[in-house]
Amino acid sequence: MPLFQKILQTIGPLLLTGVLFGQSSQALAQLKITTTTGMIADLVQNIAQDKAEVQALMGVGVDPHLYKATQGDIRKLARADIIFYNGLHLEGKMQSIFDKMARTQTVVAVTESIPENNLIRYDQLHDPHVWFDVTLWQLVAQKVAKTLIEKDPKNAAVYQRNLELYQTKLAELHTWVQTEMAKVPLPKRLLITAHDAFGYFGRTYGLEVTGLQGISTAGEFGLQDIKQLKDLIVKRGIEAVFVESSVSPKFIESLVKGVQAEGRSLQIGGELYSDALGPKDSSAADYLGMVRHNVNTIRAGLLGKGNQNE
Ligand SMILES: [Zn+2]
Repeated sequence: MPLFQKILQTIGPLLLTGVLFGQSSQALAQLKITTTTGMIADLVQNIAQDKAEVQALMGVGVDPHLYKATQGDIRKLARADIIFYNGLHLEGKMQSIFDKMARTQTVVAVTESIPENNLIRYDQLHDPHVWFDVTLWQLVAQKVAKTLIEKDPKNAAVYQRNLELYQTKLAELHTWVQTEMAKVPLPKRLLITAHDAFGYFGRTYGLEVTGLQGISTAGEFGLQDIKQLKDLIVKRGIEAVFVESSVSPKFIESLVKGVQAEGRSLQIGGELYSDALGPKDSSAADYLGMVRHNVNTIRAGLLGKGNQNE
């Protein structure tokens, strides 16, 4: 058999099934997207599905407030067709990189989609932790889809359909969080955590929140604050406070010891995922699971039933 015929016999079926050309052109057509947090990467992946290769710079347990980009990160950002970051100073040490890259690349702060009067203001800054109000995350989802459609209009229908499917899941999640938090009696709805990541959560789902370190983990926490907090815990009969996966537990642990030293009972109600997703094989590995984990932990802790997640 002539060589040409032999080759055709071998690759012909591959050509027909698109193995050689179809898939490689599809792979080339995939958008390369780099995000800062895992929450944003998860959202983008849900809307882009197989139309994009999505990579988050910040992994499990990483604190975005203090995160500094490595040389490898800069390369990943430079290669990206789209860069999505949170904004509102969440990535406090990376803003100048984004400003510079925005001159030549598509760089999107996803929180730009949220009207200013929906943001919580602390002194001169806005609280960046918008993902814990699921309805605000729905606005962010729209922004992500809009950006994908602008960048890759031939797949607009796919992005639109994926957005609608994911919005349904977010709407269900929002209703579920409302139902679960309503199970905690009003006086017990005080959420004390390592830093102020739950301001939007508290506003939307009816809890008072206090973070020991303010809206950035860069802040300090004084002895005077500890005393006030101890008094509040005793007065309200609060049974649990919470540590966070991406923040050192030292302040929360010293608060618990301080209250216990006065003969009062106070427990660590469990670990919340505030600024980073959980490990790959955990129930908090994606955004929906992260919110469910936190809500289950908070409800059980405030009701004095311990962590029922595990
Ligand atoms: Zn934070």
